[in-house]
This record gives sequence, structure tokens and C-alpha cells, in this order.
Amino acid sequence: MLKTKGFAAQDATSALGPFQFERREPGDLDVLIEIAYCGVCHSDIHQVRNEWGNSVYPMVPGHEIVGTVTGVGEKVTRFKVGDLAGVGCLVDACRTCDSCQQGLEQFCQTGAAMTYNGTEMDRKTPTYGGYSNQIVVAEAFTLKISPKLSLAAVAPLLCAGITTYSPLRHWKTKSGDRVGVVGLGGLGHMAVKLAASMGAEVTLFSGSKGKEADARRLGAHNFVLSSVPNAFQNLGGSFDLIIDTVSAPHDLNQYLGLLRVEGAMVLLGVPPTPAPVSAFPLIMGRRTLSGSLIGGLPETQEMLDYCAEKGIVSDIELIPVQQINDAYERMLKGDVRYRFVIDMKSLNG
Ligand code: NAP
Ligand code: ZN
Ligand code: ZN
Repeated sequence: MLKTKGFAAQDATSALGPFQFERREPGDLDVLIEIAYCGVCHSDIHQVRNEWGNSVYPMVPGHEIVGTVTGVGEKVTRFKVGDLAGVGCLVDACRTCDSCQQGLEQFCQTGAAMTYNGTEMDRKTPTYGGYSNQIVVAEAFTLKISPKLSLAAVAPLLCAGITTYSPLRHWKTKSGDRVGVVGLGGLGHMAVKLAASMGAEVTLFSGSKGKEADARRLGAHNFVLSSVPNAFQNLGGSFDLIIDTVSAPHDLNQYLGLLRVEGAMVLLGVPPTPAPVSAFPLIMGRRTLSGSLIGGLPETQEMLDYCAEKGIVSDIELIPVQQINDAYERMLKGDVRYRFVIDMKSLNG
């Protein structure tokens, strides 16, 4: 077994702190990665605090993992020692169901193995995430990372990047489409960059007055401060796609009314409580309300290659792991510009 250093939550209410645990020795088809950086996703906070009611402790969060390969099993063909590698939200799946066969491993019909707060496919070995110095992952669930981009700023692509890229592709965003993005945090800022890179006219809806200049710098063409009265006047019926990244309860109906006929709103954020949906904005125009979960392995690699080609990375604030609890508090206040990334060297500090 491999002795591993990490940061863990021991229960839903205490701060994260140092934690030692063991990972398996790499098998024939496994890759061992020394983790350089791990992004901090709002899903980490939801799960650390058991807001979705499914948390298992101790929990080592983190599913935006990048680093360097330090060992490969005998049958590994796509990676060698010294290569850059990435791991997102999935570390395994059944690999045989219809969803897996289609490269939609996130929808594995037997339940995929999540990178943390889950188990391996044996359904008993707990998985531990990227707030740690190393990880062992099946080659089939390991992503290729281009050396062209800043490695720390690539980390958030493994969740925030793919989660926003996937719906843009699914709804076939193209030049001239009108795309709305709700919430400018980790997912929101990637949605703005990616939608703008596809030629869309992007409107950012934010509850934070101070984010307009950033939104425009990131590629948004319009900014709507959602908290002011009449903010939505004159916007009705014009959006092809609205991507909702908000992590807390909020009114969905006001956004549904902004879609064009047969336009779609896709929920990415996962507030802990359900939201009421009114039938009227949906029936008036056969509009769709949908959701989307990260992306499968082929699409995640496609997104990483797309970002390498276009020079797209996340805007990050690098922190030592000892600052993780403060970072969570800042994220809860919407005060993140626009992704915290942990420098894993700090685990030795
Ligand atoms: P984040 O960086 O904390 O950003 C969330 C943003 O939502 C904030 O910056 C803020 O933007 C807005 N917001 C926060 N509280 C709000 C409130 N009370 N009312 C209105 N707006 C509020 O979080 P993230 O990492 O982007 O994650 C966002 C959500 O997506 C989380 O629920 C996370 O679990 C979920 N998620 C889903 C998937 C998936 O596969 N579907 C993947 C990753 C994450 P403004 O200041 O601009 O208003
Ligand atoms: Zn995430
Ligand atoms: Zn499957």
C-alpha cells in the first residue's frame, strides 16, 4: 500500500485538517500520479458539509486533479513516467452498460465510481480525492494534459471546464447564439469563456455588482445585475440557452421566461433544496428545463484538447492547503475570482 498525505473532513461540521491514509499499489492498468494542483469546487463544500445527505467520512475532497505520472502498470500504453496527467470527478465505471459504451460514464447505469465520497467499483473500498499528494487511477479514467498551458490554471477544467463545455456542445452552441450564464463563480466564469470562444453572444446574470468588469473581461457581452428591480425587462424571449451555475436556492422561473421559443435552460448548480417551477414559462414556447452532469471521458479529453488549442484556462487564486477552510468561507460569500486551486507542495509545509 502507498502511504498518502491529504487533508480531510472528519464530519459535517468541523474544519478540514491533515489526514494520512493508504492507496493501492498501481495494478497492471493503473497510473500513479503525483498531484501538483487540485481545484476547489463548490461540490466539495456541499459534500464536506453533508448538504446532499450522502456524505461518508473521513472525506478527502477534490476532483480537479493535475500532476505528473510517477509510475505506470505493465499494460498501460497511453502514459509514461514524467507525462502530465489529469483526473476529474470519475475514477471508474462498469464500462459495459449503454451509457459507458457511449462514453457517457457519468451516467453509468450501475453507478460510476466518484473520485471521492464514493467507492471503487467493488462497492466497498472508499475513494479519496485530490486534496492529497498522490492518486492511483485506472488509465482509462486518466486524462492527457497539454504542457502548453499553465498547469495550475488547467486543474479547474477537470470539473468546472467539462461541466460547462458539455451542455454548450449538447445544445450545439454556435456563432451568434444568445447564451445566458447565471452566477459568476468557478463554473460560471468557464461557461462565459467557453461560450464566447464558440462565438456566442454571452449575457452574465449575477447577484454581485462588483463582477461586471470581470464578466466583460472574461468575454461576456452583456451584464445583468439580477438583484435590481426590473432587471429582466426587455430581455424576454431571446435566449437560445441559459446555463444556471448558482449553488444556492434562487428563482428559476424568471430565467425560463427569457428563453426563445424552444430554448433550453440547463441546471448545473445543485442547491440543497428543491426549487418551485411554474408551468407557464415552459408551456408558452415549448421551452425546456434540463440538467447536466460533468461529462464523460471522451468529451473531457475533447474539452482539454479544445482549451489547449484555444489557450483557455481558469482564472485562479493559488492557495496552500492550510487555507482551505478560509477559501470555503470566501466561496460561500461569492468571493472567489474565480477558482481556488491548492498548491499540493504545501502538504509538506
Ligand atoms: P462557486 O464558485 O461558489 O460559484 C457559485 C456562484 O453562484 C457564486 O459565485 C455566485 O455568483 C452565485 N451565488 C452564490 N450564492 C448565491 C445565492 N444565494 N443567490 C444567487 N446566486 C448565488 O461554485 P461552483 O464551483 O461554480 O459550483 C456551482 C454549483 O454547481 C454548485 O452547486 C456545485 O455543486 C455545482 N456543480 C455541478 C456540477 C455538475 O456536474 N452539474 C459540477 C460541478 C459543480 P454571483 O456572485 O455572480 O451571483
Ligand atoms: Zn466539481
Ligand atoms: Zn456503466
